[in-house]
Amino acid sequence: MITNPVPWPNGARCAVAMTWDVDIDSGVNVYNPDRGDTLINSQSQTRYDVHAAVPRICAFLKQQGMRQTFYVPGWCIERYPATIDLLLEGGHEVALHGYLHERPNEQSAEDERYWLELAIEAFRRKVGSQPLGWRAPSFAFSKHSLGYLIERGFTYDSSLMGDDVPYMLRHGSGKLLELPPDMTLDDWPHYMHNRDFRFTMPISAPARAMEVFRAEFDAAWRHGGMWISIWHPYVSARLARFDAVAELLAYMQGKGGVWFATAAEIANHVGDLIARGIWTPREEVLPAYDSPLPELKRGSR
Ligand SMILES: [Zn+2]
Repeated sequence: MITNPVPWPNGARCAVAMTWDVDIDSGVNVYNPDRGDTLINSQSQTRYDVHAAVPRICAFLKQQGMRQTFYVPGWCIERYPATIDLLLEGGHEVALHGYLHERPNEQSAEDERYWLELAIEAFRRKVGSQPLGWRAPSFAFSKHSLGYLIERGFTYDSSLMGDDVPYMLRHGSGKLLELPPDMTLDDWPHYMHNRDFRFTMPISAPARAMEVFRAEFDAAWRHGGMWISIWHPYVSARLARFDAVAELLAYMQGKGGVWFATAAEIANHVGDLIARGIWTPREEVLPAYDSPLPELKRGSR
């Protein structure tokens, strides 16, 4: 069903990146800017990242001999340096996820650039290098984001959802590789229940959530695709859910022919295939349109 499958390393059937968005308490503040300090319960729910979830994930990955990708807002990098140390000590990829989990497509072009620069600066100060990867907070990629990310030298984005395999985003003369995740691999729709986020899903049993994640993996394996999770430590690394994550990983490992990689490793592999002329990605120009559709200004809707 995939017309342009990527040749994965060592003839693997599919690529898997079990990636995590380490939002901690950035989102609860940015979505409640005037009262984040009073939302003590939501702070506790999200700071579970720092005290329990990220250490748990790191210990598990170490035991598995795996490295993974963690998207972290710049503000969290500054405020929780020990969490970043833990990730870096494990050899994991730390990538950027906004500064305070602000939504770029709800900002002016100037404000978006302001927050992006703050995030890059926070990253550089702590990690000591240029960030390679970006995931837009709340997937809120703006029509200016691509130009900014190209200008600031990012290697890849993992926010947009337009294909089953990597594809190239073009803006003017620049381009950026997209490693598309999908809502089917996001944990919030299954588990997130918090009024301060205006997100109150009925809570799924872990087995039900894993049924969805596993179906996507089986299809990626069958058709030569890619599987990139959008999981949140404070959501998916609670006890019963993390037991289920471990079971899913064992299932994937047991199936064989899976290339487990960080998002940056996938981007590097794909970049190398492109440079050597072995594989050519589909290309998409963004933004698709630069203003609201003119058709909507006339007549009735
Ligand atoms: Zn996030």
